[in-house]
Amino acid sequence: MQQRTQPDQQPTIPETGAIAWCAWHEAYSNTARLVRDSSGARLFACFSCREAYDLTPIADQP
Ligand SMILES: [Zn+2]
Repeated sequence: MQQRTQPDQQPTIPETGAIAWCAWHEAYSNTARLVRDSSGARLFACFSCREAYDLTPIADQP
């Protein structure tokens, strides 16, 4: 009989599954995704900054 209770070791993984440096507000964020800035450089931007600066993640672009 299996009576193993699973502790909450695995928190809900955010959409990226990782924490990355948001280049816009200059801090780590677990909602950061790779976007292209106005010069074409690839940088991470968090959800809030993508909303604020109208950034589209590279993965979501056609
Ligand atoms: Zn940010």
